[in-house]
Parts: sequence; C-alpha cells; structure tokens
Amino acid sequence: MLYTPKYIYNNDLDQKICKCPECKKYRILYCHSSISECKEETSKSIESDIFAVCSKCGRMYRFSITQMNNQDKFHVVRVNLIEEKYSDVKENIIRNYNSYESILSIKSEDFLTKLIKDIEEDNYKLLEYVFMEK
Ligand SMILES: [Zn+2]
Repeated sequence: MLYTPKYIYNNDLDQKICKCPECKKYRILYCHSSISECKEETSKSIESDIFAVCSKCGRMYRFSITQMNNQDKFHVVRVNLIEEKYSDVKENIIRNYNSYESILSIKSEDFLTKLIKDIEEDNYKLLEYVFMEK
C-alpha cells in the first residue's frame, strides 16, 4: 500500500511553508517519494519532492521533505514559491509524471499513482513512486 495523502499539514512539518496567517495545510498536486529501509540497522528514510497549494491563499509551492526513522516531524528543505500559472504547472507535472516507467499504476479517487522502483535485497528495501492529482 503506497501512502498518497491528499493534504500535508503544517503540524507535520518542522517549519511553515506558506506565510499567510491562516495557512494550516497544503493540497498535494504532485509528489515523488523514495522510501529506503535498512533492516539490519532498522533505519528508514523517506524523501519526497512535492508540488502543493496552500489551501487558504492558493499560492503554489515546490518543496522537499525528509524524515529519518519515524521522527515525529518532516524536515522541510528547498522551498520555492511557484509563480507560473496553474495550467503551466499542471502541464509540467503531467510531463514529469509521464516521464517515468511504471512497474504498477494505480488509479484512486483523487490520484494517479505510479510505482517506479521496488527493490528488495537481503537487508535493504527501496520503494519509489510518484503520484499526481487527477
Ligand atoms: Zn497561504
């Protein structure tokens, strides 16, 4: 089961992305996630590259989040405000999404999801997937 949340909340992040006063969450337009696990050291890391919209003011952002070993908050890195039009951003997202070869494609109510890597070796597991809002 791949984790494809519709929203990401400021409460789950170590810093607020949008500075508008009432911002609480962001609607995810596109997300590219890698989850790697090393069983021997029981370490797990998650890294996601996200395009999202502030659900209050509508500003769009691209940012990355990382999490190590189930820390309670995601660490936010590389925040960029997107100033292009929504239609251009959407086009860009679709191009990105289509550029990946999928092992498995999943269509849910809100998202199209592609599993792009699923590697399991003795001690190591890597899962990589992209999803975009329909
Ligand atoms: Zn905002």
